[in-house]
Amino acid sequence: MDAPVRKRKKSAADNKEIISLVNVSKAYSTGAPALKEIDLHINKGEFVFIVGDSGSGKSTLIKLLLRELTITSGSINVMGYDLTRIRHRKIPKFRRNIGIVFQDFRLLKDRNVYENVAFAQRIIQKSSKEIRKNVPSILAVVGLAGKYKAKPRQLSGGEQQRVALARALVNNPSILLADEPTGNLDPKNSWEIMKLLEQINENGTTVLVVTHNREIVNAMQKRVVTLKRGVIVSDEEKGGYIDED
Ligand code: ADP
Ligand code: MG
Repeated sequence: MDAPVRKRKKSAADNKEIISLVNVSKAYSTGAPALKEIDLHINKGEFVFIVGDSGSGKSTLIKLLLRELTITSGSINVMGYDLTRIRHRKIPKFRRNIGIVFQDFRLLKDRNVYENVAFAQRIIQKSSKEIRKNVPSILAVVGLAGKYKAKPRQLSGGEQQRVALARALVNNPSILLADEPTGNLDPKNSWEIMKLLEQINENGTTVLVVTHNREIVNAMQKRVVTLKRGVIVSDEEKGGYIDED
């Protein structure tokens, strides 16, 4: 009798919502609202592509999830934090559990690979001993163990993005957000980054990837949320890239 009960409990935990937006709108001080009445629910452990034309609100959504921006109306909950009510002093602690990767890598140019990744650990006051353990281990995951002394300018775009990924992951976040992570990469490096994101997701991290890469989205058969002028026009399991009209 015990076994089925345990099983049910496990699946309930796996299906727990980690991101929830209900009727969310976001207007900047100028122009039309960037997001309109968004309903989006993402469970722990999901891999989700966010696609849509330039200007459709993808980066705005990412910034709302990070609490870099606040919503205009509706409700937003991330990892149990109500982001309309979170205290300012709690925001750094909240963000520790989110890794973020951008199109333009955003590495410290005068620091080597090791230091770029260690920096993220220093911010959260990890001990030197832990840093010496965690940084090489995450660099090995992204395939850069041998390049820890290189400066960003000595690396290819794909390698720089892998450093950014290592930096986003070293603090072991629950959620990884990637805003057009392959936007500056060639097809081969784009695939390598996407495969790494998939591997990270398979290890339990919830992953959201904003992308324009139609071929990759169609091939990977993940959940695809399509935004158009601030509205979710489709949300499909094992979806594809919807052609613009
Ligand atoms: P995407 O990432 O899909 O290209 P964005 O979320 O960056 O779209 O932008 C959505 C809309 O919001 C666009 O119309 C854009 O011009 C507008 N927008 C984005 N940032 C700002 C801002 N800081 N101030 C005013 N309007 C903005
Ligand atoms: Mg954008």
